[in-house]
Amino acid sequence: MPNPAPHPVTGELFPSPVPPGSGWPGDPATVRTPVATTADQVRRLAEGADGIRELDARVSVCRACPRLVTWREHVAIDGRRASFADQPYWGRPGPSFGDPDAEVLVVGLAPAANGTNRTGRMFTGDRSGDWLYAALHRGGYANQPTSVASGDGLELTGLRIVATVRCAPPANKPTTEEKATCAPWLDRDLELSEPRLRSMLALGSIGWDAALGAARRRGWSVPTPKPRFGHGAEAVLTLPGGRTVRLLGSYHVSQQNTFTGKLTEAMLDEVIARL
Ligand code: SF4
Repeated sequence: MPNPAPHPVTGELFPSPVPPGSGWPGDPATVRTPVATTADQVRRLAEGADGIRELDARVSVCRACPRLVTWREHVAIDGRRASFADQPYWGRPGPSFGDPDAEVLVVGLAPAANGTNRTGRMFTGDRSGDWLYAALHRGGYANQPTSVASGDGLELTGLRIVATVRCAPPANKPTTEEKATCAPWLDRDLELSEPRLRSMLALGSIGWDAALGAARRRGWSVPTPKPRFGHGAEAVLTLPGGRTVRLLGSYHVSQQNTFTGKLTEAMLDEVIARL
């Protein structure tokens, strides 16, 4: 597999994984961005990030989960899908994507090995992303219905996409420890978004649980018993000052759900319209 290889949009040559600050479209990091290598460092660097841009930069160079670092870099170097073998792979954690002043957050599960782990952008370059961005375009949040590669012109307004775990996990299954290690990035995303936040959309039960967990750690009031995930489920979360944020659930846009008809375009549009 060629390494370096040309970026699919710009044609510029990049090695895989992509070094921070080397000119990849949308790369939030520089060579000086601090790198977390332990769970404690994730917590400290997340809490100290002074804005979304710096938080994204720190997320994008994180190396705190040894199993996931090994996997994401193995896929980037030796494990590329045959149809993408001539492309460079990002091979780093997926930073959040979208409007830094968003009133709506979408909480996903984790990057896909040949999607975000290849393109460096959430839900970009795979079937899940085709579904999600087409729906966000229909809902008025995205300026185009497709998301092929970083640098393709896609912009989101009023909405930002985050994830429970920011590195592609083997078999799409992060461990409990990896979810806990990554949680401070999500907590800080929520904290920085809080002043404007109106609603959240959790994709799948893991995103639902991650959103509720982050809300509790932020000191928000969560209904008891714990609200149950389901497609179209809704929970009202109350911030310490009394303001409320709505959490909506949707079946994940994974191929298992969209190919089988468990999740249809109409079902996804209906939930997005309620955000
Ligand atoms: S999963 Fe999260 S905490 Fe673990 S290495 Fe990736 S970004 Fe860091």
